[in-house]
Amino acid sequence: MQKNTYPSGILQYIPFFYVIWSDDLLTVSEINVVQKALEADESITTENQKTLISWLDTANPPANSELKNWKRTIAKTGVKLVESDTYPLATFSQKIVCKYYTECPFNDQLKHIEVNLGIQPNHYSHLFDVEVDYQSSLNYYKASEIDTILKGKHADLIDRFRSDLDHSIFKWDIHRNKEDFREVVLDQVKGLADKGYGATAYPATYGGAENMEGYAYMFENMMYVDGSLTIKFGVQFGLFGGSIQKLGTKKHHDKYLGEAGTASLLGCFAMTETGHGSNVRGIKTTATYNRATDTIVLHTPGKNDNKEYIGNALHSKMASVFAQLIVDGKNEGVHAILVPLRNEKHDLLPGIKVEDNGYKLGLNGVDNGKIWFDQVSVPRENLLNKYGDIKEDGTYHSEIKNPNKRFFTMLGTLVGGRICVARAGLGGAKFALAVAIKHALKRRQFNDSIKIQEDLLMDYSTHQLRLTPLVANAYVYHVALDKIMETYCDQSQPDKREVETQVAGLKSIITWYANSTIQECREACGGKGYLLENRIADLKGDVDIFTTFEGDNTVLLLLAAKGVLSDFKSEFNSAGFLAVLKILGIQISNKLTTINPVYSNKVDKDHLYNPKFHKHAFDYRTRRLTYTLAMRIREYIKKGMPSYQAFLKVQTHLVALGKAYSCELAYNFYCDFVDIIFDEKNRLLFQKLGTLHALHAIREDVEWYLEQGYIGGTKSKAIRQRVERLCTELRPHIKVLVDGFGIPEHCMSAPIAG
Ligand SMILES: Cc1cc2nc3c(=O)[nH]c(=O)nc-3n(C[C@H](O)[C@H](O)[C@H](O)COP(=O)(O)OP(=O)(O)OC[C@H]3O[C@@H](n4cnc5c(N)ncnc54)[C@H](O)[C@@H]3O)c2cc1C
Repeated sequence: MQKNTYPSGILQYIPFFYVIWSDDLLTVSEINVVQKALEADESITTENQKTLISWLDTANPPANSELKNWKRTIAKTGVKLVESDTYPLATFSQKIVCKYYTECPFNDQLKHIEVNLGIQPNHYSHLFDVEVDYQSSLNYYKASEIDTILKGKHADLIDRFRSDLDHSIFKWDIHRNKEDFREVVLDQVKGLADKGYGATAYPATYGGAENMEGYAYMFENMMYVDGSLTIKFGVQFGLFGGSIQKLGTKKHHDKYLGEAGTASLLGCFAMTETGHGSNVRGIKTTATYNRATDTIVLHTPGKNDNKEYIGNALHSKMASVFAQLIVDGKNEGVHAILVPLRNEKHDLLPGIKVEDNGYKLGLNGVDNGKIWFDQVSVPRENLLNKYGDIKEDGTYHSEIKNPNKRFFTMLGTLVGGRICVARAGLGGAKFALAVAIKHALKRRQFNDSIKIQEDLLMDYSTHQLRLTPLVANAYVYHVALDKIMETYCDQSQPDKREVETQVAGLKSIITWYANSTIQECREACGGKGYLLENRIADLKGDVDIFTTFEGDNTVLLLLAAKGVLSDFKSEFNSAGFLAVLKILGIQISNKLTTINPVYSNKVDKDHLYNPKFHKHAFDYRTRRLTYTLAMRIREYIKKGMPSYQAFLKVQTHLVALGKAYSCELAYNFYCDFVDIIFDEKNRLLFQKLGTLHALHAIREDVEWYLEQGYIGGTKSKAIRQRVERLCTELRPHIKVLVDGFGIPEHCMSAPIAG
């Protein structure tokens, strides 16, 4: 029996009071729960009851010396906290009393507090200096179940794909010579094509399964092997093959699509020029129809008009070239034309020049190059003519009369590639997170003088806060990308304008997320993260450019924001634009109700964890940014400024709207998905991840919310505390959460993650 200064009536409550005060989260409702239990507790004396109730006074909280004394009293007992107990904290308290007193019955009032406050061992286990038996929570969730939820309907394809990556050609290695690296990557691409994966998105007639959704999912998994493989695969089957599939007609499909899918016809997608990147409409390469020879002549007119950064340029036999199509002296706008580049011996054909782009920051296994055309003739049939054709009589014809609309329709068919790039970025982030977290679960640094063993990195709250929200974001973005691809592939919705806006936004926020996550993971691994063998360094170099190709992120967000405005069916340059902005302003302002001060300072857990609050916060931000943006543009236009100039004036505002819109979209997709997870245990876990993601996102833009008066200082503080607390609560499950990404063992080559 140990010596103790507290009577047993008080002692049994001490672990509870310690949890309540050290977590600094005492709300009115929590006080009520404890006070009611104390008042109902007939086993304690009135005097003990008075003391305990006095410890609930937030205006006069227990002194720090008192808290220290509580902690010492608990630690001295050597009692172990067993998470698997039915009421772990009440049982823990009872065991402590048993160490000091011969009589120590289980107190139902303690159980009542534990249940009603909803406190879980992972809320408080880190607070006591006692041994914790984590076993129950460590094994509570199963990585395989999480992986199954994430794979959803693609499980068969993905399982097969992952297992096919278990082959010596996919073994990760360090490559310092680009020529050798490119050969390795080419072999990998061909290896996947041999197994039928290249054609996954093509129709069955051409060796495929018309499964664009599954095709996108493979990008995430290819990143576990290597970024260069992922991108070269995307160029060959998605950009080159995809342009034939989406912009060509049956004659092109019959002739080329099967061979593109098996990689027996290697091709590239030549859109960008040295002088024109984001502004595709401004490209200068010409494709002039020659009626006499019934051919189209490709030409690079001047300096900087050559194609540049073209992936697969050195290995390709053919290019899908984007050029200004000129028929009968009239420029019909940008069209794609198939142009043979090399003969069977791989020699360049007359009039074609190709130069290697040289070493890059990353993706050195991809052969990017520059291409020039000097009056290169190809048959008229080589025009990918789904949206615009040159008829046999030599006249141009298109069902889409408006050249603007035609251009955007053509480019719109290619946005599937944008989803794949985001998917690849997400794969990079997941891989880096898995490496950093597995490392943090083994690596120990520092201890206090009492402990023999140093502490795990993952047990530092800074580490938890750095990595856990990023894991939660990976889950949300995974679901958002699944959903957007499903919508994009939905044939029952032919109007893809909204999806294009959504893809533009999601691609931007997700590839930016991927880059910042990889950097955080590098730092979280310390010096080990800098070694090539641990893979994060390569990911940094490779994923970096995902923010630029398939649409530069800033340019895409500008596009997304304009898409949000044009949801109101405006034509930006039309005469009715002012009127539309006016209507837009009125409609949105009606929904922007003034925020009630009680709401802006509401801090109870039920409110802060409620998706309704998160959705409202995101919706409010999007609407307010749309409204203020519309009003600003209106003011400029009213002053006589041309709409192009007015839009330039508000570019930063547009980008803020694009981000806000995409953030809201991703979260809404995620909530819809979580609601239908059948199994309650996993549904609650996914909900918790969603809550962390949402509160963290609000936290990241907290200045804006404070500026608007949407949240007050108290609420901002409570959100910060909740984010930290959620990270702590998820700490026991962090390994399962990254294992749930399903990264195959055979791809996880980083020694620090072993
Ligand atoms: C490794 C790699 C592989 C590639 N593969 C291919 C390929 O296979 N085929 C292909 O056709 N292309 C390819 N590209 C080209 C790629 O698509 C372009 O780099 C991209 O479109 C951006 O164009 P840019 O580099 O000319 O940048 P720019 O358009 O010059 O942009 C530079 C900066 O200016 C900003 N900016 C541009 N316009 C605006 C505006 N209106 N308002 C505000 N800011 C603006 C952008 O945000 C960006 O930060 C590849 C590029 C790389 C690096």
